[in-house]
Amino acid sequence: MLTRRNWLKAGVAAAAAGTASVAQAATGKAAPSRKSNINKTLPSETFDCVILGAGTGSLVTAIEAFDRGLKPVVLEKMSWAAGNSIFASGGIAAWGTDLQKAQGFNETKEAFRADMMKVSQNRADPALVDTYVENIGPDIEWLQKKIGVKFAKIRSLPWPLLHRMIPVDGQGLTGGSRLIRYLLAACDARKIPVRFNTKGLKLITDNQYRIVGVECLTDDGLKNYMARDGVVIGTGGFSANRAMLCRYMGGPLSRLVLRGSQYVTGENVSMTEPLGAMLVHMDQFHCGPIVENTHANPNFVIDAGTGLDVNCQGQRFMDEVFTYTQKSMATATKTAENKAYHIIDANWPRSEMAAKKFLGMNSEVIIANTPEELARKMGLKPEVFTKLFAEYNKALADGKLKEMNPPCSLKDPKPLNKPPYYAFPFQGGITATFGGPKINSKAQIVSNEGVPFKGLYAVGNAAGGLFFGNYIGGSQLGAATVFGRIAAADMASKHKNA
Ligand SMILES: Cc1cc2nc3c(=O)[nH]c(=O)nc-3n(C[C@H](O)[C@H](O)[C@H](O)COP(=O)(O)OP(=O)(O)OC[C@H]3O[C@@H](n4cnc5c(N)ncnc54)[C@H](O)[C@@H]3O)c2cc1C
Repeated sequence: MLTRRNWLKAGVAAAAAGTASVAQAATGKAAPSRKSNINKTLPSETFDCVILGAGTGSLVTAIEAFDRGLKPVVLEKMSWAAGNSIFASGGIAAWGTDLQKAQGFNETKEAFRADMMKVSQNRADPALVDTYVENIGPDIEWLQKKIGVKFAKIRSLPWPLLHRMIPVDGQGLTGGSRLIRYLLAACDARKIPVRFNTKGLKLITDNQYRIVGVECLTDDGLKNYMARDGVVIGTGGFSANRAMLCRYMGGPLSRLVLRGSQYVTGENVSMTEPLGAMLVHMDQFHCGPIVENTHANPNFVIDAGTGLDVNCQGQRFMDEVFTYTQKSMATATKTAENKAYHIIDANWPRSEMAAKKFLGMNSEVIIANTPEELARKMGLKPEVFTKLFAEYNKALADGKLKEMNPPCSLKDPKPLNKPPYYAFPFQGGITATFGGPKINSKAQIVSNEGVPFKGLYAVGNAAGGLFFGNYIGGSQLGAATVFGRIAAADMASKHKNA
């Protein structure tokens, strides 16, 4: 069995292999062996807080709860920290931190807040946005000073060209994987129990409808974990649950390829809905491009600002000005195979480097010296690309790209006439779901009537209400941290008053 210690060791080995292989290693591990003989009910155990999932939100909650004098336990259904966190590139969105000021970036709270509302089309709960904005600065400092997280240099984001994303220095791992290692090490140092192969099944209530524990499935049988101060759902969203994606987002979107963990399967919803939790933003998610077989991330290629996007028949089907998110959505909904190719040539100065990078990840790149050869290698008739490239080059020369069908609205496109020509395949992928039980600014889950449940919290992607439509890059890990610490503080305040 892969214990946490072994997992940490495995991470070290994976570090040498680079970030993509860490994610692959994470997805490739076998599911935990559940013993068939589980007709045994184990004696229950009581803690102050019972925290489900070993993701960023849960581990932060556990550490903060411990530091506030509580006795937490973290229960993870898999045999390692298997959630989306280890896939995250690891940027955390903040404003006005010392790290940002040191690099000369001085964004105001108001500007950051306004954009958080704007990216959500003003549908985010303003109280949750305010909570994020107020707390993220101190929380970055907490990650640095209490947990020892090292951050790398801040770079401008492709959009909106602001210096908001503070990247966890992955040191050979994804930033998110490294963050999880820091948090697990902090749990270890505090001797916070993190129990793997322990799956939360059902919330337990008392006769006041207070949430007092979780019935769990362990390798040795069913076991109730009882909580004096609260149960925290940090099980992620439901991006890996096809039936739920289909139910809440519709068929084509349920065929998005997973960009992250296959173990975030919607327990945030299935465990809380029966209690009458208010579910919000259930049709909302973030998507991006991915190559399914290799997990290569083609963002920077399809965002090149030049080149054409075609379906498997070699036809354009979307405006190339689309962002990588829009391109992923269009690919999932407008192609039968959820597959497209970004066609580009040597006029793009990064094309050779991009191809080397992809081939280095064993990811397919089709390379040819002529449009005919490119088409042939893609299994198409040679004239498909001679015709398309000629049309495109003429429209570009005539200033009529917007008259193409569909229009091409790129600001500074280049002609397609300089070999070699490249076709980078990509698919629409889902990063994370945004829907779930609605939380208030204390991270408490609220009922359909808007009343907070006693003793029930959600953190990270398990929680609903903060994100809608899109998110400021880095604000998901940020929110997991902010609301994790807040849930712990709330449980501690009630513990003192008990
Ligand atoms: C490719 C990619 C890149 C990303 N990059 C960024 C980024 O740079 N910045 C950013 O802010 N966000 C990023 N994100 C999003 C970010 O990864 C997530 O928002 C974040 O990791 C969510 O953390 P979490 O605490 O909700 O839990 P997760 O890390 O998803 O962990 C949930 C855990 O709960 C466990 N679990 C599930 N059900 C149960 C159960 N019933 N009982 C016990 N355990 C259970 C799962 O096995 C899992 O280990 C990215 C996501 C992807 C996929």
